[in-house]
Amino acid sequence: MSFQENYHRICEEIEDIKSRIGVSYPITIVAVTKTFGPEVVREALVAGIQNIGENRVQEASEKFPALSDFQFTRHLIGHLQSNKINKALQLFDVIQSVDSLELAQGLEKRLSRQLPIFIEVNTSQEASKHGITPEQARDLIAQVKEMPHLHIQGLMTVGPLTNDEKLIRQSFQLLKRLRDDVQSWFSYPLGLSMGMSDDYRIAIEEGSTMLRLGRALFGSRTYT
Ligand SMILES: *Cc1c(COP(=O)(O)O)cnc(C)c1O
Repeated sequence: MSFQENYHRICEEIEDIKSRIGVSYPITIVAVTKTFGPEVVREALVAGIQNIGENRVQEASEKFPALSDFQFTRHLIGHLQSNKINKALQLFDVIQSVDSLELAQGLEKRLSRQLPIFIEVNTSQEASKHGITPEQARDLIAQVKEMPHLHIQGLMTVGPLTNDEKLIRQSFQLLKRLRDDVQSWFSYPLGLSMGMSDDYRIAIEEGSTMLRLGRALFGSRTYT
C-alpha cells in the first residue's frame, strides 16, 4: 500500500477509536522516518504530515538538508548523548528523549531559544530501554520545569516489546498516571507521546495524544 493509503486508513482508525472511547482532543502523528531516505520523507510531507521523527542525530544531519524546502517539525525520539547536544540543537525542534538531569542541564546551558521537550520515562522495566524510572520522574520534571529554556510538552515512553496486551496497557497507564499526577504543576495540558506501529490502538485507548509511527505508515524497514 502507498503512504497515502496507509496514512488515510490510520487517520480514519484514530477517529473511530476516539469516537468509540469518547474523546475529542487532537492526536498528533509523528511519522518516524529512520532508515528511510529523503524521498520517502518528502512523500509523507506532500501527503500532509507535519511532524517527522528521527532517532539518530547523524542520520538526521544527512537527511534534513535535502528537505529544506519543506516546513515541518523535527522531533528527536532517540537517546541523545551529551557529545551530540550541539548538533541536535541545530537539527531538531523538539527533543522527546530527555531522560536525565545531566542531559537537561546540558541542553539548557547551550540554549538561547525556547526548546519544547518531552520527559522520557521507562515504563516497562526493560533494562535495555532508555528513560528515567517512574520513581525518579517527578523529581526530574520538577527540576526541568524550573529551567528557563526547556518547555515540557509532556511525557514520552516506548511500550514493552511483547504481544501481551495487558503489559502494554500497564505501561501506558503508568505514564498517564504520572502525567495526571504532575498536571496540576502546569498551566497548560501535558501531552502523552506513546504508541508505535504495533501498539498505537492501545495507546489511544489509554490516553495518548501523540503517536510515533514508522512501519504502519511506510512499511517494514531494512537495516543495513
Ligand atoms: C522506531 C521508533 C518508533 C517507530 O517505530 P514503529 O514500530 O516503526 O512504528 C517510535 N518511537 C521510537 C523511540 C522509535 O525508535
